[in-house]
Amino acid sequence: MPLDHILQNQLRDIVGAKAAIADPAEMAPYLHEERGLYHGKAALVLRPGSTEEVARIVSACAASKTPIVPQGGNTGLCGGAAPHKDASEVIVSLGRMNKVRAIDPMNFTITVDAGCVLADIQRIALEHDCIFPLSLAAEGSCQIGGNLATNAGGINVLRYGNTRDLVLGLEVVLADGRMWNGMRALGKDNTGYALRHLFVGAEGTLGIITGAVLKLFPRPKETATALCALRDLDSVTQLLSHARAISGDCVSAFELIPRIGLEMCNRHIAGTTDPLSTKHDWYVLIEFSTSRPDSGLRSTFEKLLETAFEAGIVTDAVVAESMEQAKSLWRIRESLPEAQKHEGGSIKHDVSVPVSLVPKFIADASKAVTANFAGCRPVPFGHVGDGNVHFNVSQPIGMDKATYIAQWEAMNRVVHDMVVGMNGSISAEHGIGMLKVDEMKHYKDPVELDLMRKLKRAIDPANLMNPGKVVD
Ligand SMILES: Cc1cc2nc3c(=O)[nH]c(=O)nc-3n(C[C@H](O)[C@H](O)[C@H](O)COP(=O)(O)OP(=O)(O)OC[C@H]3O[C@@H](n4cnc5c(N)ncnc54)[C@H](O)[C@@H]3O)c2cc1C
Repeated sequence: MPLDHILQNQLRDIVGAKAAIADPAEMAPYLHEERGLYHGKAALVLRPGSTEEVARIVSACAASKTPIVPQGGNTGLCGGAAPHKDASEVIVSLGRMNKVRAIDPMNFTITVDAGCVLADIQRIALEHDCIFPLSLAAEGSCQIGGNLATNAGGINVLRYGNTRDLVLGLEVVLADGRMWNGMRALGKDNTGYALRHLFVGAEGTLGIITGAVLKLFPRPKETATALCALRDLDSVTQLLSHARAISGDCVSAFELIPRIGLEMCNRHIAGTTDPLSTKHDWYVLIEFSTSRPDSGLRSTFEKLLETAFEAGIVTDAVVAESMEQAKSLWRIRESLPEAQKHEGGSIKHDVSVPVSLVPKFIADASKAVTANFAGCRPVPFGHVGDGNVHFNVSQPIGMDKATYIAQWEAMNRVVHDMVVGMNGSISAEHGIGMLKVDEMKHYKDPVELDLMRKLKRAIDPANLMNPGKVVD
């Protein structure tokens, strides 16, 4: 549905002609969605340059009842940033708002625009001998506004928490165009409801995040990385608890890699090889880090491996002797989703269960899907230190991709029933977007769902902020 000409001109005037995109070819990258699952249309794409411009856009849209889709780097994996098909929505893309407003190493905080690319925040923090620990494979293109809106996880959650744990203050443009300035850099603030947490993980359904005050941490001075081959799947949790106990909680990453995933990387990703001379079914990429110089981290790490060998939990390992070697081990882990794409269709489950149940979940779910969907190939990997498994299932070799993908919901049901039976979550880190609205409705406690809908109605009564995402 095309926008009324008066409104279109009004919106164009707010951002300037160059930052208002109506041409279908120029709009295409904003309509494309990472997994190719959604193909929407938009009335207009707007690229505001300031919070004030965002507020004026939202006011104009509120007055004309025009729905808005906030968009960051557009790397989300559940269709949250994709518009619907009826071309009624305006996409507000935050990419031009990419300034670091201030950095305060003394207070360990950084104040940023929402459109800052995550890798840029990490880099600037490092220049001040600090780290911003949020880290994920899309960090070169995802934006902090998108990270906050999805409460992104990534590889360092075990040590530093999710994005929610890394934010002190927020600036948000509300659905009626008012700006809420909650940019406080306080570690403690118990003055009523913690409003910032409403907008974190809301996937743009309650307002547009325009700025944030984030926590920084001292830069690690020592890091130790190894790829460990495990005796069996049960050894995963044994190694994790052993590592946490011995290291004084210096475990910064603990990632599961299955043999089938390693082989897919070796087949499709240039420069990856099997780092060990014999084959094993399961591997863990483990990293210790500390900001204490001369902490003896390396010897603690070696002690862990030694005792894990003695106990038979770890059967082989390669320890990185340089940053380059550590990077090449990480490359295997980070290339898994890309390698899987080359193997045809993949039905995905971004789930979590209590850490102690990870081995049972992987074993039971693999058995169930292979029994129900002949020839499918489970490739479970991910942040198992947080109980988060990317239970991705590659298609049978030679099967037509569309025929396989048509079984998405049926397979989701088998896996998600099992996850919920273990008191787990059907979306550990990617969110709900459009992909899991019905799935969440199926599993969520009705009281919880009712509270979510009431919150949405209270904050966005006209349902203009990313309608049809998260709650219906
Ligand atoms: C290779 C790859 C690896 C990934 N690894 C991980 C991982 O390890 N952990 C993880 O959690 N995710 C991961 N993701 C998913 C994705 O990168 C994250 O969800 C990321 O946080 C999305 O940021 P974005 O800027 O791209 O947001 P977008 O995709 O643009 O948007 C995501 C959602 O946030 C909303 N939104 C965006 N910006 C704003 C804003 N300023 N205000 C309000 N709402 C907004 C959108 O409307 C949408 O609902 C991965 C993705 C890829 C492609």
